[in-house]
Amino acid sequence: MRNFTDFGLADAILRGVSAEGYTTPTPIQNEVIPAILARQDVLGIAQTGTGKTAAFVLPLLHDHISETARPQAKHCRSLILTPTRELASQIAANIRAYGQFTKISVAEIVGGVKPGPQIRALNIGADIVVATPGRLEDHVRTGALKLDHVKAIVLDEADQMLDLGFAPAIRRIISKLPAKRQTILLSATMPKQIHKLATDLLTRPVEISVTPESRPIERIEQSVLAIEIAAKRDALVSYLSENKVERAIVFTRTKRGADKVKKYLDGAGLKSEAIHGNKSQGQRERALNGFRKGSTKILVATDIAARGIDVDDVSHVINFDLPQVAEVYVHRIGRTARAGKSGVALTLCTPPEHGLLKAIEKLIGTSIKIEDRTVGGLLHAAAAHAASDAAAPKAAKGRRGGHKHVNARQTPNNKNNKTKAKRRDFRSGEETPSAGLDRILQKSYKRSSVRAA
Ligand code: AMP
Repeated sequence: MRNFTDFGLADAILRGVSAEGYTTPTPIQNEVIPAILARQDVLGIAQTGTGKTAAFVLPLLHDHISETARPQAKHCRSLILTPTRELASQIAANIRAYGQFTKISVAEIVGGVKPGPQIRALNIGADIVVATPGRLEDHVRTGALKLDHVKAIVLDEADQMLDLGFAPAIRRIISKLPAKRQTILLSATMPKQIHKLATDLLTRPVEISVTPESRPIERIEQSVLAIEIAAKRDALVSYLSENKVERAIVFTRTKRGADKVKKYLDGAGLKSEAIHGNKSQGQRERALNGFRKGSTKILVATDIAARGIDVDDVSHVINFDLPQVAEVYVHRIGRTARAGKSGVALTLCTPPEHGLLKAIEKLIGTSIKIEDRTVGGLLHAAAAHAASDAAAPKAAKGRRGGHKHVNARQTPNNKNNKTKAKRRDFRSGEETPSAGLDRILQKSYKRSSVRAA
């Protein structure tokens, strides 16, 4: 399809789509919209940023628009399950936008807020319920919502839901749906458990896996800064002060870490907000709104809280801590370079995190360039070594320049890295960060040589 009108969607929906400024369907929309309209089950592998939300929302709206009766009290016609409240809010906002010229009703059922308004919304019935599994089950248990009229269920970001331990809840919820229903499962990755879930829950699904034509990751300038743990916060402050940062998300591994980083940035005069699971829904929404409007330029977030953040103008993603799971890196950096824009992703990598970095490079199939620059008055360890290393004049010269990016594949003399890889800090006996990274570099270099051969 080259045009949204080719799908046979109702006029009111086409008006909503065009009010959003969409002219051409994305590849996933081209595949998924006709399949859902034909009432088939769908198993879709798609990352955020591909337009997957509209891919399932538009045909659901089309189906509901033809219903003449209002949804019955305490019932809904379709159910969308998401891993996080932010993603649920985002999807509900999209439904309202695409359905602005229709009378379709949507109820948002998420944890962390008072149940009263949700119960009232369910009481009058809703065409579409967008929910996180825990709170949805609460309402089903108390009888505030009944699931026996559900015609279609969407499991969005299913891999993330499984990571969060929602598999039993999902199965319980599905067991309460009518046997004759449509099931749509979307996931960014396809681990074995997702495959099993799909086999158990879907009936002869259309399998759709879409690689975006211009994968966002290719528009992201990725680099790594090798650094000692103690220097991280100063490095972050310098980086954020020195670079033209429109909007940055700083990822930390823990909630406490996010709070600490926010405090440190505040102390350095850099206004930021932190979002994580210990914040109330109100606090999270305020922080996100400020970030969206541009009154807060820096958002410090944990992975879970950041899921579903859909802000188009994030110029920088900074991994203050490396993620424990390589796939999460791809999700994180996908917060930038949205809507056709480019973006920058910087990863601070301490010696204990080298293994995680290697796993990421393996996953994305390329080595990430090493930033070689002074940070917060601290000369990055590799540069320090190069400066003191008379035996490696060529490499040292390039590095002493201070701001040159060194790409593993272009490293002029990787043999020198072998010597450096064995160097140990004479004070601590620990391997220095540059030694560890050089070893990684060398392996990447070997990998790229093999590929080139
Ligand atoms: P999603 O993958 O659903 O999170 O969508 C990513 C971004 O793409 C969102 O900002 C959408 O508003 C936008 N989008 C979705 N479909 C289209 C389209 N056909 N044309 C332009 N932008 C789109």
